[in-house]
Amino acid sequence: MNVIEHNTTMPNKSLPFSKADIEAICAQYPTPFHLYDERGLREQARRLNAAFAWCPGFREYFAVKATPNPTILHILGEEGCGADCSSLAELLLAERVGLTGSDMMFTSNNTAAAEFRAARELGAIINLDDLAHLGFLEQHAGLPEVLSFRYNPGPERVGNAIIGNPVESKFGLTRPQLLAGYRLARERGVRRFGLHTMVASNELNPDYIVETATMLFELAVELATMLDIRLDFINLGGGIGIPYRPEQAHVDLAALGAGIERAYRSILTPHGLDSIKLCMECGRLLTGPNGVLIARVRHLKHTYKRYAGLDATMADLMRPGMYGAYHQLTVLGKEQQPAGETYDVTGSLCENNDKFAIDRPLPVLEVGDLVAIHDTGAHGQAMGFNYNGKLRSAELLRRVDGRVELIRRAETLDDYFATLRFPGSDF
Ligand SMILES: *Cc1c(COP(=O)(O)O)cnc(C)c1O
Repeated sequence: MNVIEHNTTMPNKSLPFSKADIEAICAQYPTPFHLYDERGLREQARRLNAAFAWCPGFREYFAVKATPNPTILHILGEEGCGADCSSLAELLLAERVGLTGSDMMFTSNNTAAAEFRAARELGAIINLDDLAHLGFLEQHAGLPEVLSFRYNPGPERVGNAIIGNPVESKFGLTRPQLLAGYRLARERGVRRFGLHTMVASNELNPDYIVETATMLFELAVELATMLDIRLDFINLGGGIGIPYRPEQAHVDLAALGAGIERAYRSILTPHGLDSIKLCMECGRLLTGPNGVLIARVRHLKHTYKRYAGLDATMADLMRPGMYGAYHQLTVLGKEQQPAGETYDVTGSLCENNDKFAIDRPLPVLEVGDLVAIHDTGAHGQAMGFNYNGKLRSAELLRRVDGRVELIRRAETLDDYFATLRFPGSDF
């Protein structure tokens, strides 16, 4: 991680709780933990659905990988969301909370036969990542009545930082493969079709997402005119960004929905294709801003720089170490204090990129201070790992009525030892 941060005068993001609220939670659940906000989750899902209310049959399939917790899937399910799954475990998480059949989209890559079989048994809508997977799916699980393909536009589309250049991306089919895929699938008896792409991640510019939709709508017209294939649905993928930095703004979802509606009406409607349903598979947009990682300052250290060591590590949130990602920090109870000192805020892994922030101006810290790391609701606990013997943290949910519920306990040393086999172990 080598991101230089210049943020001394940035406004702070506010949090929906006080230091006293968090101290009360800590009395029962020790730090570190991720804390999610049910009200925020529901409101965000409603905002997204409202932005596409003009499109009959619009559905958001929440990308399970962002926050793979059944309680979260259940709440989003109540708001009308399905689940976008990419592995056997993710399919089963969705199934456990009652999502069935077309409530599930299966968007995988380099897929195992057992995963295709499970997706077929559960009736999930399958989104193929390669032309060769058509035969593989047929051989191992049989072809479904409805099938979707993931398009990789290659040089036609410029990607963004996290997802990279589409030409370098392992995902999806080229345009000629895509056309061949629809033809072949139809010959093999597939009756209904979808089209998917995912070319951006954490994209804050709504124009980029409208352009992606435009590209897919034009392709849908081409499929109708060239192959006489009228798509059932177009999946615009996920990738709507969130403002991790305090100076960034939320994507205006209403404006985004209106921009996509204009493209839909000008491209699809004239060709009589306005029965095509739209769907999305956003992860971060829904859960990202509605989670924080709460940790305590364990040690302060002053060598060539000042370090604040937290009781959380990169195992609880690897985005900063992995991508140099920025996460806002709030020192609870010191919200109004000036940033009087500059710190590297670290975990305790034996890796120098185990840092939540580098050269971050913060109020003067003391051992025991509670630090809230913002926007950890997506790709936070989900990316956890056990390297260096670190145990994954708990997940808590603040309900709409203010109660706090444990929705995943912290790992214990027994969990860590459970898979080991050695002389003297219990197995
Ligand atoms: C990761 C992923 C998503 C969700 O991405 P977000 O940036 O969290 O919206 C959606 N679809 C696919 C296929 C993905 O791999």
